Amino acid sequence: MTRFPRSHPRYRSLVIRARLADALRTGLVVPEGLIAHGRAEAFDYLLGERTSASASKAIQAAARWLVVARFPVISVNGNVAALAGPEIAELVRALPTLSVEVNLFHRTPGRAARVAARLRAAGVSQVLGLHPTVRVPGLPSDRGLVDRRGIARADVVLVPLEDGDRTQALRRIGKRVIAIDLNPLSRTSVAADIPVVDELGRALGRLAREVRAERRRPQRRSYPAFDGAAARADALATINRRLATALDRRGSRAAPAPPRTRPARRRR
Ligand code: ATP
Repeated sequence: MTRFPRSHPRYRSLVIRARLADALRTGLVVPEGLIAHGRAEAFDYLLGERTSASASKAIQAAARWLVVARFPVISVNGNVAALAGPEIAELVRALPTLSVEVNLFHRTPGRAARVAARLRAAGVSQVLGLHPTVRVPGLPSDRGLVDRRGIARADVVLVPLEDGDRTQALRRIGKRVIAIDLNPLSRTSVAADIPVVDELGRALGRLAREVRAERRRPQRRSYPAFDGAAARADALATINRRLATALDRRGSRAAPAPPRTRPARRRR
């Protein structure tokens, strides 16, 4: 992989892009995955490339739901495996009841095996979804196939970087859905019970820490309520504010400079 100086102002973005480009060459990621990443980068740019207070709250709620769940599952596609294998392994260490299942829009047995291999190399010992036998109703194509030991029996499904049809279909069969998606307008963010509007790696790292903290607290039995629409509105308000500030700055730069007043010369 190309090396970049850490001092580069866009170091993290360059590293992530290079990681995805490598993953494309090895067949882990498909070209369409790069386009999805580009859209996410644009939203991250607009959101200020950091976890907002509102996204932190969503992550806290997600941690609570995952700890309450009996059969929580994280659904993993090519981009997620390429970008966040170690973070997923860390999340499983924090929550051993969490199952990890491969789910691919562009599925071939070879690609599913590559995603599983990447996850195992990162430290995930059990990977489901290699031979899915159950179908989620209303989802044609291989996307609808799920593992009977995983998503088929899950009560809570964590779907990072998902598409709207699948999120809606999971909701229709009664799953509680937590999404990680930088686009607050996507159908996934709209359909999810808890939309975490944040970048994948940042969100998963924080989620593992929150899960550990939650497990140290007295255990709850029910799912605390979460207002997903308010979370999405917060993200849109952040974008709005940042754009307004940028426009203001531009406005003040474009405005004619105020006339310079010279101090009047003293007459002698
Ligand atoms: P929808 O159907 O939900 O409206 P879509 O079909 O356009 O969305 P996809 O092309 O499936 O969405 O892309 C998945 C989503 O994942 C996009 O909304 C994108 O913003 C988001 N995404 C991609 N990469 C990341 C990332 N690294 N972190 C967070 N979100 C990401």
